Amino acid sequence: MSQKKELRKGFRLGSLFCFMVATLLFTRCNAEEGNHDRVSMHMGTALISEDTVPVSDTIPADTIKVKVEPSTYTIIGVGDMMLGTNYPSASYLPPNGGKDMLASVEDVLQAADITFGNLEGTILDKGGKAKQCRNPSACYVFRSPESYVQHFVNAGFDFLSIANNHSGDFGQAGRTTTKAVLKEAGIAYAGLAGTDEYAIVEKDGMTYGMCAFAPNWGTCSIHDLGKAKQIVRKLDEQCDVVIVSFHGGAEGSSHQHVPKKRETYYGENRGDVHQFSHTVIDAGADIVFGHGPHVTRAMELYNDRLICYSLGNFCTYGRFNVRGVAGIAPIVAVEVDKEGAFVGGKVTPIYQQKSHGPKIDSQKRAINTLIELTNTDFPNTPLEITKEGELKRKE
Ligand SMILES: [Zn+2]
Repeated sequence: MSQKKELRKGFRLGSLFCFMVATLLFTRCNAEEGNHDRVSMHMGTALISEDTVPVSDTIPADTIKVKVEPSTYTIIGVGDMMLGTNYPSASYLPPNGGKDMLASVEDVLQAADITFGNLEGTILDKGGKAKQCRNPSACYVFRSPESYVQHFVNAGFDFLSIANNHSGDFGQAGRTTTKAVLKEAGIAYAGLAGTDEYAIVEKDGMTYGMCAFAPNWGTCSIHDLGKAKQIVRKLDEQCDVVIVSFHGGAEGSSHQHVPKKRETYYGENRGDVHQFSHTVIDAGADIVFGHGPHVTRAMELYNDRLICYSLGNFCTYGRFNVRGVAGIAPIVAVEVDKEGAFVGGKVTPIYQQKSHGPKIDSQKRAINTLIELTNTDFPNTPLEITKEGELKRKE
């Protein structure tokens, strides 16, 4: 996390510098006593050597207009993560103890105040009662070694959702150990009904809240909008920025569009993710990170808040299909103000193959997909996604 702190420190020094320059110019224009000027000048000089805004000696100070930007905060969200399973056999684990899985994108993930992802499985070395499947030949249950939590720590994760269809794969023992391992590692988690409905993290003077919803056993229900509103309102009272995660919607390449109605998949009610997202934002949520369809879906700005309808498969080793559109995904960095309102953002496109975790995609496929889907599904949203992946308000 130290790298993360340094990046933030760099940003804060930049902000401080802007303030200094403004102060310096103000005092230059207005101060009559030389001592004020000297103090500011000294600080300004010391900081100029640090970085960023060059102040030209050839331009008179009183013609330079310095805009002092208010503080912003960067929240990163990614989709499904399952770094390898030791069940049904250790042959489903990646090489090198999983150390390489997130290595290519660690720098990107760390460059934020808060980094979020969906933990699609359990963390448990052995034991637990594996979920029984109707069709054993197509039975997917996930149990990652406890040592793998270090990979999430190294990548800078602060919040993980455990509201999904795999956090219960190894019964109560799986859930209990997963929570204990995350807690020990200093990673906050949420998404279980009655016990772990939300998590709060304080960082650099800001308070961030997170809650997570899904249609699955034991999780905070994506269908119970009344309860969801209650949880979000409570977080909104206590936190500066409220992040809501959901694992919902139908799966696969034929379900990339947001239908704006209830979705069912193999007979299961997977929620109305559009209504859910708008409801939680109306209740005080600032960012909605959706996942579950295993493909990327559109984004939308609603009431100045960003909704990502599906962040796709982010780091899913072994037993996941990562062919075609299931193998590309965005890393979404959202910049918000102190109230959590959207200021801007950046999408970093990644791709996976069967043999490796996320790598930066030079073809930028996830950005193109987001642009296309957002244009189709939310043509009137005030959100613009540029070809380089920049997120901004439409002019
Ligand atoms: Zn899932």
